[in-house]
Amino acid sequence: MKQSSPAGFDHASHSEPEMLARLRNYKTANQIRNRLREIGLRTTRTRVALGNILFAKGNRHISAEMLFEEANQAKVSVSLATVYNTLHQFTEAGLLRQVAIDSSKCYFDTNNTEHHHYYLEDSHELMDIAD
Ligand SMILES: [Zn+2]
Repeated sequence: MKQSSPAGFDHASHSEPEMLARLRNYKTANQIRNRLREIGLRTTRTRVALGNILFAKGNRHISAEMLFEEANQAKVSVSLATVYNTLHQFTEAGLLRQVAIDSSKCYFDTNNTEHHHYYLEDSHELMDIAD
């Protein structure tokens, strides 16, 4: 049986921000699973993985293409169509708010409270308007 000694517990291998990020991911994943169950959506790996990517970084505005790109970088194997479907399911579930820029462009806001936006056309960035 393996004994855990203070010397064997390696604090140096994980920095504190990394530990906090992991903890936040863990919490986020559980919250997503709970919310999906509440609304009767199956808690598939893909939904939970995409939810993690979406919500682990706090409030932000993201397009389907941006999320697709981040999923690829995180080695989550998913099609753009699935990303679109998942974003719409999350929006219907109240986890996200959809912000339409025009008929061809829309963003999804992880801040699902009521607020208004500026759109910076040059940088294609969506900004919250403070009250
Ligand atoms: Zn916003």
